[in-house]
Order: sequence, then structure tokens, then C-alpha cells
Amino acid sequence: MSEKGEELYNKIKDKLVELQSENSAYAQFNEIWKMACAIKYKSYDLRYLYEDTSREFVDEYREHLIKMKKDFVENIDEYVDKCIKRMESTNHFRVYLAKTNQEAQRIFMEELGDNKVIYKSKSLEAKDAGIMDTLKKNNITIKETDLGDVFCQLLEYDYPSFTLGPGIQFTPEEIVAKIKEKYGVEVEPEAEAIVNYFRNTYRKELLKDVKVSLTSANAISAQDGSIVLVENEGNISIITRATEKHIVVAGIQRIVPSVFDALLCAKIQERIINVDGAYISFISSPSNTSDVQGHRVFGMYGAKEVVIILVDDWRMKAVKENLFYKDMLKCIGCKSCDLVCTASRAFGNIYASKYGIGAINIVRDYIHNGIEAAVADGLFLCTGCENCTNWCPTGVDLAEMIRELKRIAVDKDLCPPPLKEYKEKILKDKNPFK
Ligand code: SF4
Ligand code: SF4
Repeated sequence: MSEKGEELYNKIKDKLVELQSENSAYAQFNEIWKMACAIKYKSYDLRYLYEDTSREFVDEYREHLIKMKKDFVENIDEYVDKCIKRMESTNHFRVYLAKTNQEAQRIFMEELGDNKVIYKSKSLEAKDAGIMDTLKKNNITIKETDLGDVFCQLLEYDYPSFTLGPGIQFTPEEIVAKIKEKYGVEVEPEAEAIVNYFRNTYRKELLKDVKVSLTSANAISAQDGSIVLVENEGNISIITRATEKHIVVAGIQRIVPSVFDALLCAKIQERIINVDGAYISFISSPSNTSDVQGHRVFGMYGAKEVVIILVDDWRMKAVKENLFYKDMLKCIGCKSCDLVCTASRAFGNIYASKYGIGAINIVRDYIHNGIEAAVADGLFLCTGCENCTNWCPTGVDLAEMIRELKRIAVDKDLCPPPLKEYKEKILKDKNPFK
């Protein structure tokens, strides 16, 4: 085993030791994460909310989703082209196709202009494109608006978290102690009191102060160029309406052929994760009115400008060169694979990268930062159970991508010592257990 391999192996081992100690950040996350995964299993049987279970809902559309995503990947150029034309000509969006992450960062900074504050919600793809790091480097104040992200920012949490519930690991006591320390306000350590505190304070700020907002897109319809966003808190609705400029940063894989497909992706994500997803927005134009003698003016009560930065970077290359991770383009970000993952359930946010928890974010880290990064994320904690592949609604073979990463890691001599011993025994005795 190489020196680097040894170093990475020891880092993971240290994290696993921390996981055993009751008060560590890893243990705290893992406890609540296991509960969230267990609730997820029960949610498949929430017949009191729907006539079908979440799983039956997914299964009803699975065949269509797999076919639709396959068609998208095979005809990616055409769909991207069609989508951009629609967004520009019909929807009055300003659209950029960034060939690289660096280009996306430059465009974003130009669009930001003199603004020094940005309000954001769930923008994994801006993080993926390095835009969040660029904003930090340029001293731009980033204001989170999803309550879980607000907690993470308030408590300066920099461990990987679950994108869809980034603050679930904090206790009410921790949150109110921080509110007292930072704002000098006493709040009861109860969920309702904490939510009311932010509703009565932060909501007003959002309605008054947002000039530039950033979101991703759950899906984008090539048919009519609409941006689809799903949420349960209402923060996305506020920051995309109460703003002057709404900037959307999305990988080109968010494009789907039709309006129906975009809605279906949104519904699948909502049903898999959040049985009470409150809002789905279709944004098809900046706010506008034609009420003064039919003269169309943009910017009535909602956003005056909507800017779309579509990011290519590795995506077209993955299709053209048939790279093993091109299945990532079929991913709709539903997170089903995290909730059913054996490694994730056992090791929580140790099986994770800086982009978030779980296998999909380890592949993402590999794409951007190489095999050593993936090994440091706990690649070899994967048990090979294939739950991820079996539960994916769009047919992403995540287990195979992780297997390929293990092959690459072994070729680079980054495989953990116990596996190396097995390998040697197989070669020597044809029996790994001898
Ligand atoms: S890979 Fe995971 S997040 Fe992506 S669509 Fe499949 S289950 Fe959902
Ligand atoms: S194969 Fe690996 S990544 Fe997939 S669910 Fe099992 S442990 Fe998780």
C-alpha cells in the first residue's frame, strides 16, 4: 500500500473512532440520520396521506423516467440547444451555457455586479461549480434561507450534511443557545418557538432586502424552458419573487424533454423525501405586466430579471467519451440512494464528501478532485449491497460507479490493508479466508 493510501486509510479510521464517542459531531449526526432513514422506510407506507405508498408512486412512473433520462443522455446536444432557444426567445430569460466551472464562476460574478449580499437556497450545483468558493473569496455575504442551512450557518457547522435536511442534527437547546449568544434573544428550546422566531424576524428581512437571489432548479423543461423548483418552507417562493434578480445555476442534466417530465421529476423528489412538500413553482418568465395599454413591462411585483447559468463542465464530455460516470446525468437528485444506503446508515456523514453525504457525492468529488479525494470520503466503506441502484427511480447504476472507483483506487495502490491481504491470499492460495 502506498504512503498516500496509508494516510487516507488512517484518516477514515480516526473518523470511525470519533463516531464511537458519544458527543462527537459524527455520532450526533449519525443518531438522527438513522432515525431519518427509518422514517423514510415507514413513509413508503403512508397510506393515510395518499392512496398509494411512495414506492408504488415511484414504480408507476419508473419505466417512463428511465426511458426519458436515457433519451435525454442520447440526445443531450439537441435538448440543451432547444431549451436555451426556448428560454431566450419565449421566456425572456438571460441564458448562459458555461463550458467550464471557471466560466460559470466568471459569469456569476459579472451578473452579481456591485452587489455584496446574496440570498440563496439549496444550490448544490453552484457549490459543484465552485461558485460558493468564489463568492467567499470575493467577500460576498452569503445568506442561507432554508432553515436547516440557516442553522448550519449560525452554528458554523462545516461537516457534510444531508442536503435536504442540513440542520437535523442540532438539538433545540443548541439552537436557542446560539440565538441568545448571537442576537441576545431568549427563545424557548422548542421547534415551534424556534420557527416562530425566524418567521417573525428573518422573513421580514427577506421580503424587504433581497436584491439578488440564487437557486438551482429541480428540473428544466426543454419543451417550454420553464424552471421547476420544489420546496416546503416558502423561502424559495419569497427569494425568487421579492428579488430584483433571480440567478439560477443548474447543470445541463437538469433539463428534461417536456413540461410533464419536469413536473414528474418534481413530484418524485417531493414524494420520496418530503411527504408534505408545500410548493412547486414553474418559473417561465420574469415578473411582468401588460396592464398599461398592453405595453409589456418587466418587473412588477416579482423578479425583474431571471438569469440562467447552465453548466456543462464534465457533462457533455462524459457522454461523448462514454465515461463510466455518465450515468450521473440521469440523476434527478431525489436522494433515495442516500436513505437506503448501508454505508450511509452505518457511518452517517463519514461516508460523504464536501458536496454532501452518500455515494452520489463521492462520485461528484471524484469527478472534480480525483481518486484520492474519493478514497478520503470513505469509498471503501461501501458494502456493495446495491440498494442504491435498486431503489433509484431513474436507473442510475450508482453501485457500479462506486465499484469502478474502487477498481481505480486499487490500481493506484490506495486500497485499505485488509482488502490488500484478501487480494494477496486470493493470488497465493486461491482462497481469501486461508
Ligand atoms: S442516483 Fe440517487 S439521487 Fe440520483 S436519481 Fe438515483 S436515487 Fe435519486
Ligand atoms: S452499494 Fe455501496 S453505495 Fe450503494 S447502497 Fe450499498 S453501500 Fe451504499
